[in-house]
Amino acid sequence: MTLAQLGARSQVSLRTYTTLKAGGKAEWFAVARNVDELAQAAVLAHQEGLRCHPLGWGSNLLPSDHGVPGLCVANHARNIEFTGDGGLLVDTGAAYQDLFLAATQRGWGGLEYAVGIPGTVGGALVSNAGAYRSNISEIVTEVEVVHDGERRWEPASFLEFRYRDSILRRPNPPAITVLRIRCQLKARPALDIYNDAREYQRQRIGKQPPMASAGSFFKNVEDKALAESLETLPAGLKAAGVVPAGYLIEHVGLKGARYQGAMLGARHANFLLNVGKASASSLRRLAEHAQALVHERFGVMLEPEVLYFGDWSHWEPMGRLNLDAAN
Ligand SMILES: Cc1cc2nc3c(=O)[nH]c(=O)nc-3n(C[C@H](O)[C@H](O)[C@H](O)COP(=O)(O)OP(=O)(O)OC[C@H]3O[C@@H](n4cnc5c(N)ncnc54)[C@H](O)[C@@H]3O)c2cc1C
Repeated sequence: MTLAQLGARSQVSLRTYTTLKAGGKAEWFAVARNVDELAQAAVLAHQEGLRCHPLGWGSNLLPSDHGVPGLCVANHARNIEFTGDGGLLVDTGAAYQDLFLAATQRGWGGLEYAVGIPGTVGGALVSNAGAYRSNISEIVTEVEVVHDGERRWEPASFLEFRYRDSILRRPNPPAITVLRIRCQLKARPALDIYNDAREYQRQRIGKQPPMASAGSFFKNVEDKALAESLETLPAGLKAAGVVPAGYLIEHVGLKGARYQGAMLGARHANFLLNVGKASASSLRRLAEHAQALVHERFGVMLEPEVLYFGDWSHWEPMGRLNLDAAN
């Protein structure tokens, strides 16, 4: 197998493959229509000494304007199979939403919070995606991977899940492509599932802007002392010791701040938006401006939830910016 036999093309823009609609080109780009093709691509990348980057919906990514070295593989492997008693075998290219719908239709609960989270099961695994205090890691029992060119099954613990984190997000992550997962759900009346999901969706619609974004840009901060020191933080968050990143960004006066086509949400300040053909660099500059101001005022460094993807080796942080005049 060669890159040409795989149907790979070189220098393909990733702008249209990301929800932030920004960034440069993939060195190589291919499409996998099923898990075997995804596995082949991962093995081939290993043999060619290329990094394999499976791509879901690009809803948690900011690809560098300087491009993404290696092989990006759009993951269209979308099979969802019920194996009995709430067990499922799921391709990682399946939409997280479709997994929720398929499970709900058969009366299996545990994914109510996932309604409205864009992206694939694979992308969800990488950041342990979730909402309303639930995460995908709670249902995963086993993962099928290609690791350093070898295809095999591993227990879920192999991915070392934490809050919005897994081994796949660490600095210099191991070369792992996740092909499929086995997961386990619990029986629940469909009406109860729909009612919870509808309520979560209602709350989400109230917060989520319609413009190009990658969802919440920074992770919420878990810091009991900081939470207790903030007079206007709701009691529930104080008790939990959680400070929403959006609260901190709002309180340094950056709601609605703009920089070269990038904007921090006017309703929810933790949404970084592309409102005017912003480059990936402009988006990152504005994010780092928010980080710098929050650090100065509150002493915490916000950690991005969105992944800086590809070649950011030329990046020179500037901290504070001169924002656009509209601010
Ligand atoms: C409007 C909006 C709302 C959002 N709300 C939420 C929310 O409530 N909660 C939440 O957690 N997230 C949320 N997100 C973020 C995002 O949707 C999730 O992180 C999602 O799970 C990413 O999936 P994806 O398929 O788009 O991944 P991508 O962005 O395509 O990929 C993300 C990373 O995962 C890697 N990857 C993808 N598939 C695989 C695989 N099979 N094997 C190995 N690596 C892989 C990619 O290479 C990349 O590094 C939101 C995003 C948007 C735009």
